[in-house]
Formats: sequence, C-alpha cells, structure tokens
Amino acid sequence: SRQFTRPLNDLANQFNTLLSAIAGAERVFDIMDEDEEFRNEEQLKELTGVKGEVEFHNVSFSYEEDGNTVRDVNLHVKAGQTAALVGPTGAGKTTMINLLSRFYERDSGLILIDGGDIANVKKESLRKHMGFVLQDSFLFRGTVRENIRYGRLEASDDEVVEAAKLANAHSFIMKLPQRYETVLSQDGNGISQGQKQLLSIARAFLANPGILILDEATSSIDTVTELKIQDALQELMKGRTSFVIAHRLNTIQKADKIFVLEEGRIIEEGTNDSLLEQEGFYYRLHGKAAVGANA
Ligand code: ADP
Repeated sequence: SRQFTRPLNDLANQFNTLLSAIAGAERVFDIMDEDEEFRNEEQLKELTGVKGEVEFHNVSFSYEEDGNTVRDVNLHVKAGQTAALVGPTGAGKTTMINLLSRFYERDSGLILIDGGDIANVKKESLRKHMGFVLQDSFLFRGTVRENIRYGRLEASDDEVVEAAKLANAHSFIMKLPQRYETVLSQDGNGISQGQKQLLSIARAFLANPGILILDEATSSIDTVTELKIQDALQELMKGRTSFVIAHRLNTIQKADKIFVLEEGRIIEEGTNDSLLEQEGFYYRLHGKAAVGANA
C-alpha cells in the first residue's frame, strides 16, 4: 500500500502530553478543554443515542488568521457507512477530524450528527460517542487492564477481557509477565506498535461508540499482527460510522465513500469504481494500482 499522509499528529500529541501528566485513567478531556471552554458549555445538551449520520455543510476553518486550512467542505456520510479520507499530506484530513471531534471549532458552516449541530452538545458528551484508533495509540503508565478500561471507566473486569478478546488482544496479553496486571510504561514500552494498536481497539470495543475515527498505521507492523488488527477493525466497524484516514489501498477500495482532499477542499468523492471512471485525481493517484488489485 502507498502512504499519503502523516499521522493524526495533533490529536495523538494532545493525548500524550496530557496523559503523561496524569497518573491514572482519568478523563482527560475536561483538562484539555479548560482554556478554550465555551462560556455556556454547562448549558449545552447531552448527545444521546447516536445513529451516526454525519454532515458537513460549507465548513471552513483555519488554524491561523491567514489562509484557510479547510475550505467550504460539504460531506454526507450515512449512519453505519465507512468514509475514507485520502489525499496528500497537508490536505486537511486530520483537520476535518479535529473539527468533527471539536478539538478545534469551525470558523463557518455547520457540522451535524444525526441532523443536530455538534456545537450544541457538550464536548465530553460528543466524544463519548466517538472512538479513536490512531497510529500512535495513547497509552499511559498503568496496567493493561487500566489502559483498556479507559474506554469505559465503569466497565467490569469481565467486560475488559471480553473487549480484549474481540480486539484479538487477549492472547498476547495472556503471554505478558503479569497478564492483565502487567504495568505498561507511559508510551507502552515493552509491547510492539501493533500490540498497542490492539489495545486501543479493545478500548474502542469497550467504549462502544457510534462513530469511529481510524488512522491507519504507516509504519511496518509484522504480518501476523497486521492481520489481527485488520480482522478486529472490520468487526469494530460493523454498524458504526467510520472515518478512516486511509493509507492502504485495500481499505480505500472497501469504503462506502471516498473523499479526495487537496489543499483543504474535497475535489472528488465517490466509490472506488466511480472515481476510477472519472479518471481524475484519484485515478492518477492510484489508478494503475487499483485496477491491478481488482484484476
Ligand atoms: P493531513 O491530515 O491531510 O496531512 P492536516 O489537516 O494535518 O493535513 O494539515 C492541513 C494543514 O494545516 C497543513 O498545512 C498543516 O501544516 C496545517 N496544520 C495542521 N495542524 C496545525 C496546527 N495545529 N496549527 C497550525 N497549522 C496546522
């Protein structure tokens, strides 16, 4: 597979910075948002029972005064669909995810979940319905059990194990010195990149969110673990709306909708087949590879 993007840097860094300052599995979002808190956050609604329809209407945003990072983006993903975001590094894929999860607030336009403006719900409530499986999984110093339970703090020990099994993580955990009680160092030292991903997938199973954000790994992961990850992700994505910052051609081809971004704009959208037919940017990006893979 080819690689177009860099990791979901911002998001991962924010998590890691914060988690390094936190001893246990506490909710980090409150702290994260303290500075930029909306005055009326307390009065906002709880988001409940998310089906997972997502719409962007004329959304624009820039990190700094000059130059738009995301320009007039329109997007519609139905509940349960998988959307692949593709395009060169710096195109704005991560930024779109940052806006959907309100790590940054859009400058103009509307972002709707199930028809409701996300600006009208509490951030914490919004993110309870979103699961993140990122390249740099955010692990903190604590046991494997605590790291998984971070997905839902009220979960029982049995539920933690169940989630680990669904994520194909149980077997490697059982081989660790203290199994579920093995203490991971802050960045998960001692376990592999792929195993970290399996833990974050377990965490997402436990959280059971309506909307998933996936940032595919670009670094090499051994084939066996990679298959476990793909298998677990496929299961995790069932019945959930998923946004994938996709690097693997296979993932992109399977998406219900592919959005091709360039310089903050969606320049093409469709399925793999319809985009190849257009013979536009997507076709040039991986026309040959895609046709080859289909043959
Ligand atoms: P992609 O995920 O497609 O690689 P990004 O959304 O990360 O693209 O970046 C889009 C543009 O916004 C890039 O030009 C990038 O340098 C810029 N950018 C990303 N994050 C920040 C930030 N926190 N502050 C300022 N500019 C940023």
